[in-house]
Formats: sequence, C-alpha cells, structure tokens
Amino acid sequence: MIDWARQIHVKNPAEIEIMQEAGRINATVHATVRELLKPGVTTADLNAAAEEVLRKHNAVSPFKNYPGPYPYPASITVCINEELVHGIPSKKRKMKEGDIVSIDCGTVFGGFVADSAFSAGVGKLSTASQKLLDVTEGALKAGIDKMRAGNRTGDVSAAIQKYVESRGFYVTREYTGHGVGRQMHEGPQVPNYGTPGRGLLLRPGVTIALEPMVLVGTEKTKVLADQWTVISADKSLTAHFEHSIAVTEGEPLILTVL
Ligand code: MG
Ligand code: MG
Repeated sequence: MIDWARQIHVKNPAEIEIMQEAGRINATVHATVRELLKPGVTTADLNAAAEEVLRKHNAVSPFKNYPGPYPYPASITVCINEELVHGIPSKKRKMKEGDIVSIDCGTVFGGFVADSAFSAGVGKLSTASQKLLDVTEGALKAGIDKMRAGNRTGDVSAAIQKYVESRGFYVTREYTGHGVGRQMHEGPQVPNYGTPGRGLLLRPGVTIALEPMVLVGTEKTKVLADQWTVISADKSLTAHFEHSIAVTEGEPLILTVL
C-alpha cells in the first residue's frame, strides 16, 4: 500500500499557482545566466548574476547552505564538461569556447520551491557535444510526456532511460529526480532508469522535478575533493536538463518556464 499522506504532498490549485510563480523566477534566473555563457566569464560571475535576479524578486535559493559534507556555499551549481552535478561556482574558473556548461538553480518563493537546470555551449560546440545536449533535452521531454494521471513513476523513468540508452548514451544510477514542493526534495524519488508500470501512481497535484543526467562514456560517477562536485568516472562529457512539472487532469504542466 502506498501511503500518500506520508510520502507525497499532493498540491491544490492555489499551491500549484505559487509554484508557477517560483518557476517563472527560476526561468528568469536561467535566461539571465544563459546570456553570460561566454569565454572568460567566471562561474562565480554566473552565481552573482543569479543572486541578483533572486534578490530582485524577493526570492532565495534553496541551494545556499544546503546540508552536505559542508553547507553548500552558492545559490546555483555550475558544471563544466565532465562535471555532472553540484559544481561549486569559483572566481578562478573561467569558461572557454566549446565548453558544455550545466546550470542548476532553485527558487524559494511564497513557501514553495522551483527547481530546474539546463546545459548549453560556450560559443560553438562540436557536433558530438551538441548531440549530447539534444539527447539530454529530448530525454527530459520524453519523461515529461509520461507525467500524466494514471501513469506511474516507473513509466517516466523508463521513458528517460530508453530515450538516452537507445541513442548510445548513459544515465546516472546515483542521482535522481524527486518530488518538489515546500521542500526542494520530497518523495517520490524518480530515477532516470526504471520499469514501466512500477512505482508510484501519478495523479493531479503531484509535482516532480525530472532531471535526466546523461554521460557519454559511462554510468559511473565520482565526487571530487571539494566533496560536492560530481564528475563522470571516465571524465567523458555530461549534460543535465531539469524542469519541475505538475501532473494535471490533462497535459503535464511545466512549472519552470517564463
Ligand atoms: Mg536542480
Ligand atoms: Mg532537482
């Protein structure tokens, strides 16, 4: 038996509306940071720009001081090339032409969290790098399309896995999508791999952050000495796309858009 009350917070329409507001702010952060993806710009510059947008909207990031090996020190995560997730912005880290940069950002507004991520190129990307981005974004769309009442989280996970693996790439086994709401991480966990028909039943008001994390050469990852940054174990390229989505009576509602 699934105990919805204990595992899942089903949101009412008024709560979904607040989440959409938070999501719009998060999308504004993304749009602002995207403009700065240029050679020579530091990853700390991206964090500063994100914090300015959040401040203007009376919002904060749930990432700042997030508990871990030590409190997370920034408002966004910035990952370059083999870095998959949780990269810490730094004044010493400059972006270069041809880099793949993955930005993950959260917004807390009105008591709710929005969580989304994107990857993009600095300048011109190689064909192989562009394909990685296209496959990862396509996997997110394939997952979103399964976010319908009556489906199960396993249907979502399996769609992401199939989309990625059938194109010759890998999904991480170690980091997952997740319920999102008053907390950044709520139940259920939604891995990027799974079995159709398994997992929790989706129903209107369920809100989930789906986030395919895709690697070119391996599904294995490791954590750098800073204890936060996760990289591909073989240092192959990676990408990450994420949206917070609400299940409705009809089409899936993407919360983290302008
Ligand atoms: Mg995120
Ligand atoms: Mg997330």
